[in-house]
Amino acid sequence: METIVKPTHDVVVVGGGIAGVSAAVAAARAGSSVLLIEKGINLGGLATMGLISWYEPLCDGRGNQMIGGIAEELIRLAVSVGLDDLSPTWGGEGHHEENTRRRYCTHFSPTFFALALDRWILGAGVELVLDSHATYPVMEEIDNSRKKCTGVLVEEAAGRVFYPARVVIDATGDATIAHRAGIPCVTGDNFLSYWVHDFTYGTAQKYAESGDLAKFRRWNCTGSAANGNGHPEGKPLYRGDSAEAITRFILDGKEMLYQKYEGSVRYERDIMTLPTMPQFRTVRHIVGKSTFEGTEDGVVCVDSIGATGDFRCAGTHYTIPYSTLYHPDFPNLLAAGRIISATGEGWEITRVIPDCALTGEAAGVAAALAVQRGGDVTALPYDRLRAKLEQNGVLFEIGGKKK
Ligand SMILES: Cc1cc2nc3c(=O)[nH]c(=O)nc-3n(C[C@H](O)[C@H](O)[C@H](O)COP(=O)(O)OP(=O)(O)OC[C@H]3O[C@@H](n4cnc5c(N)ncnc54)[C@H](O)[C@@H]3O)c2cc1C
Repeated sequence: METIVKPTHDVVVVGGGIAGVSAAVAAARAGSSVLLIEKGINLGGLATMGLISWYEPLCDGRGNQMIGGIAEELIRLAVSVGLDDLSPTWGGEGHHEENTRRRYCTHFSPTFFALALDRWILGAGVELVLDSHATYPVMEEIDNSRKKCTGVLVEEAAGRVFYPARVVIDATGDATIAHRAGIPCVTGDNFLSYWVHDFTYGTAQKYAESGDLAKFRRWNCTGSAANGNGHPEGKPLYRGDSAEAITRFILDGKEMLYQKYEGSVRYERDIMTLPTMPQFRTVRHIVGKSTFEGTEDGVVCVDSIGATGDFRCAGTHYTIPYSTLYHPDFPNLLAAGRIISATGEGWEITRVIPDCALTGEAAGVAAALAVQRGGDVTALPYDRLRAKLEQNGVLFEIGGKKK
């Protein structure tokens, strides 16, 4: 079968979730020609198609802002188009009850956020192909141990297409490109949960009367919480590394949801929409040059790409190493989002939306800077990367920025 060969881009980003859109915009703003490849038909990944519409905090819970840059730009974009609002502490008008939490976090409308992301991406000069499934990286030996990725093969309506690239960023959420390139990866297990937005006659009436329409949209989380509480008895853990395994996770989740509504009066409730991608917290992550373990509270790492708190508790401070985004034997491949080299607590801390934006932005800037120097992301002078990220508003101070 013929392969259609497209023109070369400086940076090809695979996956248009939060990490991918952040990487693409950061690379384009830093002067690269950028192509973003998404297999779905909406941008935002789990945050939109997966209906995960809660933006975890950018602050440490003690009044210090930990994360800035694109992560902050995106939380503001998300609330600017929907019914939700930030707490007044963080510049919002304080319309809703959850604003009293005073943390820099929010619910958002996944549908309006997805619409806004299209404009945001295109406005930054990123080229976008939707409904395009990246299948394999094309690899070339540099020497005995190192391999270069010359581009990405994609299946789309026109057939098989090859997109040549100087640097490739894997933001697929499941490390498809990194894994198939040969980067060592770890596959993870998931508890069973299935999340939708629904409404009932009661909530519709109550919140229509109070004028608080954001509450009309209920976030209905069925099954397990992140820690396994609520995982259905007798069910195994779930993986997302084969069609059979994914199908089992989705069908079991939907059946669990369906059972939850049994006995309810059918004309008194509805589900707004079902997720259009599997809601796995983890599928696979790379094993990079270094691994973030989340045991480094208060430690400034030598190659920090920015500070973060831990969304689960207040008063903790971490920095994420650049070396978690690549493997030394793959000089023009970067990982971003929930597939970076992070394990245990480190993975819990970095898998959420603001941190995915943070690692996405760092990957995008690193890719663009590497392109200007021959394309080796592993040989980037750290001070140049840090200076550019600081210029973008990324925060590095371990204690955050006092509000
Ligand atoms: C049940 C659950 C609850 C969560 N709760 C929260 C929460 O309350 N708050 C929070 O901040 N975070 C939460 N998270 C975590 C967070 O939503 C995700 O980790 C984060 O959004 C991941 O972003 P990402 O860009 O790394 O990956 P993804 O969102 O997975 O994006 C990957 C994108 O790549 C695309 N893609 C994949 N493979 C290919 C391919 N081969 N070719 C082309 N495109 C491809 C996908 O379609 C997708 O758009 C939750 C996650 C889950 C599953």
